[in-house]
Amino acid sequence: MDAIPEKMSRSVAGPEIERLIQLLAKLPGLGPRSARRAALHLVKKKDDLLAPLAKAMDVALETVVVCSTCGNIDTSDPCTICTDPRRDSTTIVVVEDVSDLWALERASALNARYHVLGGALSPLDGVGPDDLGIDKLVGRVSAGGVSEVILAVNATVEGQTTAHYIMDRLAGTGVKVSRLAHGVPVGGELDYLDEGTLSAAMRQRTPFHGG
Ligand SMILES: [Zn+2]
Repeated sequence: MDAIPEKMSRSVAGPEIERLIQLLAKLPGLGPRSARRAALHLVKKKDDLLAPLAKAMDVALETVVVCSTCGNIDTSDPCTICTDPRRDSTTIVVVEDVSDLWALERASALNARYHVLGGALSPLDGVGPDDLGIDKLVGRVSAGGVSEVILAVNATVEGQTTAHYIMDRLAGTGVKVSRLAHGVPVGGELDYLDEGTLSAAMRQRTPFHGG
């Protein structure tokens, strides 16, 4: 009699918990199903997890700022990286997103400073040079003290378009511009690589200094 039409999903919890589920479902990697599981886990662990998480989020909300120098996200402006005296300030690594900066930091790849663009050039999506921090990057380089700019952008069409654009903009500044090598991943087997990666690796082969 009171059957609910198939398309209408009925609520299993009050609006507060439904709201929590809806918000969690917006997180990357979480769909509605995993958001429900996460929400249930949180409310079950109200004191151990939900309370400290809510507090941490509150603090983050109050303190998080975008670094006006490099575009990194931190709790101080300029950010921890920009103010770290142990970092090589003559090298700027250009990345598309803060997640790329974090990835490079996890790899301890370089002890340099960064410049976060906040995306890549994509005319189809309406992303032009003005939407990215490219003028700011050119400004940083023009101010002097920088000897190398490393373009650590994604190996996508947009990333490479962005790299070429930045290279053009930095031409004449005298700064050395390099970009990440494309090639065989560490631990990778040739047979499993796609043709694009394999041909890029072949073109960008490096002298072998066998020891
Ligand atoms: Zn910074």
